[in-house]
Amino acid sequence: MKKEYVIGVDLGGTKILTALSDLEGNILKRSRVLVGDVKDKDTVVTKIKETIEQVIEETEVDLEQVAGIGLGCPGPLDIEEGLIHHTPNLNLDDVNIKDELSDLNTPIFLENDANAAALGEQWFGSGKGAENMIYITVSTGIGGGVIINGDIYHGTSDGAGEIGHMTLDPNSVVKCGCGNFGCWEALASGTALSRLGQEALKAEEDTMIDDLVDEISEVDGAVVAKAAAKEDEVALELMNTIAERLGTGLASLINIFNPSRIVFGGGVSNSWSLLEDKVWETIEARAMDSLAEKVEIIPAELGSDVGVVGAIAAALAHIKK
Ligand SMILES: [Zn+2]
Repeated sequence: MKKEYVIGVDLGGTKILTALSDLEGNILKRSRVLVGDVKDKDTVVTKIKETIEQVIEETEVDLEQVAGIGLGCPGPLDIEEGLIHHTPNLNLDDVNIKDELSDLNTPIFLENDANAAALGEQWFGSGKGAENMIYITVSTGIGGGVIINGDIYHGTSDGAGEIGHMTLDPNSVVKCGCGNFGCWEALASGTALSRLGQEALKAEEDTMIDDLVDEISEVDGAVVAKAAAKEDEVALELMNTIAERLGTGLASLINIFNPSRIVFGGGVSNSWSLLEDKVWETIEARAMDSLAEKVEIIPAELGSDVGVVGAIAAALAHIKK
């Protein structure tokens, strides 16, 4: 039977998004299931199979027509083996997902979710045509993926691309989820913006952020951005601080990888117009001129689809090789 389709599975901590696409990446059918409260290997594997069966049955495609299944999953992973070492949100520890899904008789292509997202943007989103590209997603943390000569850069043990955990400030007392202090993600993410906003209120600064919430704990990045959009001075200053930190990290990435494009996604990217000037000012001050002038930064295109489209791209990348 002719292999005319691929399936992408985006394995998230709360839901599994699955889609069937043709070999051009056109999505024909989607499925979405919540993982639920019971999170263990058997439940997760059963739910993955359910979503795959759903998109197959509803399109009347035969599984034999599917050339491969791309599975985007939080790391750390061993891609070749199909091994998921550890995912705290799903309680998967040392699960060989290729073995678990072997009864589907279809090749499984495991990929780190952030790297898959990078590939998704490069194939089908804002990264189209960029052979050397960095994808960053800035929301509660900072994740990303590095594309070199059109391929994901995986590193020695499939761990490359943890850009959020480069140390931005060695003297920082802000502890990161990874255990280090002063990581880029700890200082420049939406969570960092939220923390700066909360600190401003605790210091009783004169800002409209105060009017937008009932409790200090309700100040998140979006609230600060909202006040900044209304030209609140304090909020604008906080956005500038985040923009400078983002620009500092980006300048390092530009110096190391010499990309032609940086694709910027995640919730914080919705405020790009408020960040852009300071980000560029910082890059121009810190990155090498000859490299900075070759790069463009553009917002991501795929939005909440990026995970599942990335998983499709991961499958296509293997099949078309
Ligand atoms: Zn970290």
